Amino acid sequence: MSYLKERILQDGRVFENNVLKVDSFLNHQIDPQVMVEVVKEFERYFKGKKITKVLTVEASGIAPAILVAEAFKVPMLFAKKMEPSTMQKSSRYETIVHSYTKNISTKIIVSKEYLDAKDHVLIIDDFLANGQAAKGLIDIVNQAGGTVAGVGICIEKSFQTGRQLLEEMGVDVYSICRIASLENNQVTFVE
Ligand code: 5GP
Repeated sequence: MSYLKERILQDGRVFENNVLKVDSFLNHQIDPQVMVEVVKEFERYFKGKKITKVLTVEASGIAPAILVAEAFKVPMLFAKKMEPSTMQKSSRYETIVHSYTKNISTKIIVSKEYLDAKDHVLIIDDFLANGQAAKGLIDIVNQAGGTVAGVGICIEKSFQTGRQLLEEMGVDVYSICRIASLENNQVTFVE
């Protein structure tokens, strides 16, 4: 069993609305050993692909994304949730993302300076639920005229609709760990 799965079984907590809290090793306090493992896995899976940039959304995607970017020797770029006062509207890509955990819609922003039509982008995030965060990032890559090389996810909740949505868009999705159910506060993995 992977170390990430072990940590989920040992320390993950199931909350209302099928939210898995992993603050002790992924989302707040971070276990470097989890990061090392997920990055090795992403590197192994995506190594044949052309990748010029790794893209995520702040904040929880940043830690895995920066290590994946280091493995592929490319820059890491994160979409901002706060409107930067120094970035003109005409010089940025933006899209609206509905947050699964907060149940609110937020604008995410990327500067045009750092993403263009030559880019082959690997999108990394901590969780995949209904796919809205990943879809927003794909929209930003499309606005830039770039190519989505794939989507890498640390924890996929496979009982939600995200994977299907992304696959229907023709995107290659790879998740380190896939959860089949969180029913009765029990974590069950996809075989
Ligand atoms: P989606 O956009 O795929 O519906 O949801 C993914 C985003 O919502 C991730 O970026 C993550 O921050 C958050 N998220 C979704 N489900 C969970 C969950 O069960 N636990 C935590 N900690 N975050 C989640």
